[in-house]
Amino acid sequence: MHTEVLEVLEAAGAVEASISEAGEAVVGIRPGAAGWEPVAWARRPDLLPAGLEGEATESAGGVLLVGPADARNAAALRRALPWLAPRLVGSAASVGTGDRLGIATPGHVTAFRANPGLVPVLAQQSARELSRTGRTFGDVVDAATFGALAAGWRDGFGADADHLKTIADIDGGIAAGCTMFTADPIELVPNLAADAPVAAIDEAFGVIPWSGLEDDHAAFAARYPARLDLDTGPLELPAAAIRAAAARFAPAVVHVVAMYRHLLGTVGRGGFDFEVAVDEILHRTTPVDHVYLATELRRLGVDWIGFAPRFVGRFEKGIDFLGDSAELAADVGVHAAIARAMGGYKISVHSGSDKFSVYDGIARATRGAVHLKTSGTSYLVALGTIAATEPALMARIWRVALREYSTARASYHVSAVLSEVPGADGLTPADLAALLTRSNTREILHVTYGAVLHGETHAGAAADAGLGADFRTAIWRHRDRYWTELAGHIGRHLDPFSRLAAGAAEEANS
Ligand SMILES: [Zn+2]
Repeated sequence: MHTEVLEVLEAAGAVEASISEAGEAVVGIRPGAAGWEPVAWARRPDLLPAGLEGEATESAGGVLLVGPADARNAAALRRALPWLAPRLVGSAASVGTGDRLGIATPGHVTAFRANPGLVPVLAQQSARELSRTGRTFGDVVDAATFGALAAGWRDGFGADADHLKTIADIDGGIAAGCTMFTADPIELVPNLAADAPVAAIDEAFGVIPWSGLEDDHAAFAARYPARLDLDTGPLELPAAAIRAAAARFAPAVVHVVAMYRHLLGTVGRGGFDFEVAVDEILHRTTPVDHVYLATELRRLGVDWIGFAPRFVGRFEKGIDFLGDSAELAADVGVHAAIARAMGGYKISVHSGSDKFSVYDGIARATRGAVHLKTSGTSYLVALGTIAATEPALMARIWRVALREYSTARASYHVSAVLSEVPGADGLTPADLAALLTRSNTREILHVTYGAVLHGETHAGAAADAGLGADFRTAIWRHRDRYWTELAGHIGRHLDPFSRLAAGAAEEANS
C-alpha cells in the first residue's frame, strides 16, 4: 500500500490497525463522537467499495468517504473485506464472547491475540438477550464487523445465533449472516429428572410422538446396547435409564430435528455450524441422556459441532462455579468421552463467564474439544468501568437493577437475594465499585441488563428514560479503559484453554 494513501486515511482519523486495501480503494474505520465511522478513499468514486455510503469530499487527488456505522455499510464492508464476514468454526476449540452493548469487540480481540489457538465467536447473542435489549441478530453481527475492522482482526470469527427456540428465531439469524445456530428445545422438556418417580416417567413415555421421531416402540427398544465402550471405560446403558431419557427428551428431539432440517433447507449442507443446548433445563443431563439424544439426532440425520449438557453443580451467571470442582471435571470428562465416541463434536460450556476455578479442569476433561460461551461478563466489565469513571451513572443503574431483579431473574439461573444487598441510596463511589466484586450484586446486575439498556421495565415504576443511551455514551467515552479492562478479564477466561491448545500443537509437532 502506498504511504500517501495510508496517510490520507490516518489524517481522516482512521485507526491504524483498521486500514486495509479493498480492490483499488483503501478502507478503515475511525472513532466518531458517538460510535464508529467507516472511512474509505479511492482515486475515483466508482473505485470505492460498492454499497458504502456516506459523505464524500475531495481529498489527496481522490475521494474520501466517511459514513455511518449502519447495517448497509456493515454489509458493504463485509463484501469488500471478506475476513469481516462471519465464518464457520467447525471442530476447532472456540470461545463465544457475547456483547450486549455492541462495543466490546476490540477488547475481545486483544484477549484472543494474547491467547492464541482459539477461534473467536465475536458475534453471539441469545434470542432472549435480543428481545431484552431491543436488538436484532443483524445489529450483533454488524457490531462485531465494525469492531473487528477497528481491531484489524483478519483471522475470521464465528457468529452464533444462540438459544434459538423457534424456526422464526432461526430465520433472524440466517438473515443476519450468522454461521452458528444453537437450538434450545427447553420448552419441550418436561420438568422431570432422570430419576423421577416411575409413574411420572411412564406417563411421559406414554405420549412419545413416535411418528414425529420416524420410529416405533419396537425399533427403539432394540436400538440400544447394554453398554457403550468409551475410551475412558464402559458406560452402562440400563434399559430403564434409556426409557427415562426418551420419556423426557423425545419431543425435544423432534423439535431439534425440525430446526436442523429448516437450516439444511435454507442455508444448505455444510453452510452452518449447529449446536444442541440443553444447559438451561432444570435437571442434570445424565450420560445416558446424552447417549439417547446423540443416538436419536444422528439417526434422524442431524450433524452438530457442539452439545451443551446441564452439568452437575451450579453454573450461575457472572460468578464462579458453585459445587465440587472434581465432580464437575469427572462429569465433563464423561460427556466429552461420549462426544468422542459418537461423532467427535465439542462439549459446549454455557454460562461460562467467571468460572475461573474450573476452566483448567474443563480444558483437560474435554482434551480441548470445547466451546466456551460467555456473554454477560463483558457487560459487567463495562459496569466496572462506569463505576470507576461515572459513579452517578452507576448509581442510576443500580437503582434500576434493584427494582427489576425479581422479574428479570425469572428465566436465569441466579440465586442472589435482594434483602442481602445494599439499597439504592447513599452509596459512595467505593460502595458502587464493590457491587462488581460480590457474587450476589454481580448476579443482580447481570440479569437486569434489559431494563438498563432498553428501558424494559416490569415493576410498574417509571423507567429511567435515557439510561441505556447514557450508558452507551459513557462507555464510548471511556472505551480505551473499557477495552483494556475487558481484554484482561476475558484473557483470564481464555488462558487455560489457550495453554491446552498450545500444548496439543507442541505435541503434534514433536
Ligand atoms: Zn446456555
